Amino acid sequence: MFGQGLLKGLSVTGRRMLGKTECDMYPYRKRVLPPKSRIFLSMRATPDGKALCNACLTCQQGCPDNVIRIEQDPEDRKRAVSFRVNSGRCTFCGICEENCPRHALTFTQDFERATFDKGTLTYALIADGTATGACVIVERTEPEHPASAEGGEDVG
Ligand code: SF4
Ligand code: SF4
Repeated sequence: MFGQGLLKGLSVTGRRMLGKTECDMYPYRKRVLPPKSRIFLSMRATPDGKALCNACLTCQQGCPDNVIRIEQDPEDRKRAVSFRVNSGRCTFCGICEENCPRHALTFTQDFERATFDKGTLTYALIADGTATGACVIVERTEPEHPASAEGGEDVG
């Protein structure tokens, strides 16, 4: 029938106008994202500034988008002197987090860092061998490996 498409379109528009909106009352009311949401790459570190990373380079080598740059300590190759993230390139695939043998990587859920300046999307998780303020502080010093929770061998 002539005009059927128009009526369908108007009914969709009407439903969207009267229905629940996705940005309901933002920024006064903010959504809590699911815990597994991936926004900004972060690192777990102890309160005394020790990052859980042991500079194995697995995440840097596995990242398909060249997001991660790690500088190993020449005197102790199991220690990262610098760990930089260019999150503007990240596609949030999660490969780095999944493959980290020490479960050192995690993602934050803070989605309010939109910027016009790409430079601000690059940040350090480790600088001068110490975890920076961009890290997530955890109490434990050794990583938990899923195998150890099931009674298997801890390979962390
Ligand atoms: S995979 Fe984990 S332990 Fe290895 S360099 Fe990356 S963050 Fe550090
Ligand atoms: S989530 Fe994917 S693209 Fe982003 S840093 Fe990790 S491996 Fe690279």
